[in-house]
Amino acid sequence: MARVNRFFDDEPLRRPFNKDQFIRLLGYLGPFKKHLLAAFMLMLVATLFGLAGPYIIKLAIDNYIAAGDIKGMIYLTLVFAALTVAIYFINRKRVTMMTGMGQRMLYNMRMDLFQHIEGLSFTFFDSRPAGKIMMRLVNDVNSLNDLLTNGLINVINDFIMLIAIIVIMFSMNVRLTLVSFLLLPALVAIMFGLRSVIRERWQIVRQKNSNMNAYLQENISGMRVTQAFVQEDVNEKIFLELNGDIKTAHMNAIRVNNAFWPLLNIMGAVGNALVFVVGVGMVTRGEVTVGTLVAFTSYIGRFWMPLSTMSNFYNQLLIAMASAERIFEILDTEPEVADKPDAIVLPPIKGHVEFDHVYFYYEPDKPVLRDVSFVVQPGENIALVGPTGAGKSTIINLLARFYDVTGGRVLIDGFDVRDVTLESLRSQLGIVLQDTFLFSGTIMDNIRYGKLDATDEEVIAAAKAVCADDFIREFKNGYFTEVKERGSRLSVGQRQLISFARALLANPRILILDEATSSIDTHTERLVQVGLERLLEGRTSFIIAHRLSTIRNADRIMVVDEGQIKESGTHEELMATGGIYRELYTSQFKWLLAG
Ligand code: ADP
Repeated sequence: MARVNRFFDDEPLRRPFNKDQFIRLLGYLGPFKKHLLAAFMLMLVATLFGLAGPYIIKLAIDNYIAAGDIKGMIYLTLVFAALTVAIYFINRKRVTMMTGMGQRMLYNMRMDLFQHIEGLSFTFFDSRPAGKIMMRLVNDVNSLNDLLTNGLINVINDFIMLIAIIVIMFSMNVRLTLVSFLLLPALVAIMFGLRSVIRERWQIVRQKNSNMNAYLQENISGMRVTQAFVQEDVNEKIFLELNGDIKTAHMNAIRVNNAFWPLLNIMGAVGNALVFVVGVGMVTRGEVTVGTLVAFTSYIGRFWMPLSTMSNFYNQLLIAMASAERIFEILDTEPEVADKPDAIVLPPIKGHVEFDHVYFYYEPDKPVLRDVSFVVQPGENIALVGPTGAGKSTIINLLARFYDVTGGRVLIDGFDVRDVTLESLRSQLGIVLQDTFLFSGTIMDNIRYGKLDATDEEVIAAAKAVCADDFIREFKNGYFTEVKERGSRLSVGQRQLISFARALLANPRILILDEATSSIDTHTERLVQVGLERLLEGRTSFIIAHRLSTIRNADRIMVVDEGQIKESGTHEELMATGGIYRELYTSQFKWLLAG
């Protein structure tokens, strides 16, 4: 079983830390500087209040319990309680602030990404599975949340906390402090070493999930084809492998992950035992008080936590940076087809089209169009015919400037399509694709997509003109029938009629149409034929034609073969010449006559 590599591609695990990317990422925090500072101050106050706890216990033990001072004890208890309540409220406020800030930042980032992706050219989508693009918008953006909101503040706070604890401990007793830190080097080594293994393993899990996501996205979209071709077994095998990858990766990650905390706990316990062994001796010799010893163990307990989060921070940073890099990669992808800085707005066109020695390559060294030249007058209907892979779709892709020519020029009313803005160009073209894409919404919404400010009456008039009105009214909810995903509840012919209405409503001077290949019943076929004739009236049109009626009704037929226009003329002229068209006609189109 050949692996479908684009679903199995794995990115490198170790990337060097990229300072510039980090600074760029911090830029997203720019609008929230004040919030960040406020949250940090709140956190600092809560931390300092928290650190006072063990010291209060020391005071209680040494000064009040020993002396039996009840009044003092009540006073101390009240202070302790007040601090605890204050910490609760401060933390609650801080978390709410940071969550709100994080969500607004993610909102901005997702908006940036989506707007950018919308502007990218076909080449971008040609080379990436949709699932992977979706993962970037959803998962990668989310994975930045933690770092940018809590991660950064936490690490600064933890650092301050560590220093504060060390200072307090040393000021209380130097010898005990040194004993407490005996195990520190071993602990730091374990934390940082194990953490980096853990990070790598989780990163593999994420990669495997992303692979599966990409595969599922494509597989579910193509389920009809899978079932039609009875390819379930093949797909299941690919899925089996992807699914197995996730399971193995997850187990590998869990195994090291689970070793971390127990190991840390053992080290902590050993450290505490050492302090007690040395400390109890010191208490009996009167070198330290009982209160100091208790406070000490409490401070040590608070020492491991920030140390652990700090060791985690670097990993969190690397993971977030990998996400950031993937996000920036998309943001930095320039649309291959874009407006020139001095692009002009294409004035209202008449519909004159010229291809002037056009060459085109999707990939280097593989010419798809070779020296294509033709002129089409306003209002002329052109049928493009030829074997599959000949270059028909490519011609219309270049006309709508979905790609830019490699050589030569495409001119509309004498304007090179590269010199005008994409918006002014495409808004004057009507494009009807073979597999009509209907968005979820009502039939009314879908037709209105052609002209968003059209009234209901205009929509209905357009539907009537292309013979779509009758079948739409037959639905219980008429024009307000919900179209399910991609219009799967409608027949191919019905979808075509809706797309004709959509195109008619937009009223373009140039119409580009890729005729549906699926056969449709004779009644709908006739409707489509009439609808199409109405749609084409008075417009320049290019149709990748599959129906004999469309081909014969065309003003001119262009025969595309091996990336060139090999023949051009009316049906009669081409039949008389006896070239490729005649051959195609007799071998391929003829059966349509019978239908
Ligand atoms: P037709 O519409 O006549 O069937 P196309 O214009 O779609 O032919 O394709 C012409 C050639 O270009 C084919 O060999 C096809 O494999 C190739 N091709 C089409 N689209 C792409 C693409 N996005 N990337 C690379 N090659 C492509």
